[in-house]
Amino acid sequence: MAYVISEDCVACGTCIDECPQGAISEGAQYSINPDLCIDCGSCASVCPSEAIHEG
Ligand code: SF4
Repeated sequence: MAYVISEDCVACGTCIDECPQGAISEGAQYSINPDLCIDCGSCASVCPSEAIHEG
């Protein structure tokens, strides 16, 4: 199970430095590579838009 980033993402960049796996990619909306995510939740806890949820 990986975390996923919803359409609520405003591409603020807050989460990307929190991921120990380097699983988050930048873009118009950010995304998480499910093959790298270890389900730690670090990104979800810092997202100001509450856009990151367990998939
Ligand atoms: Fe990275 Fe953890 Fe978020 Fe997965 S849950 S994308 S490993 S910070």
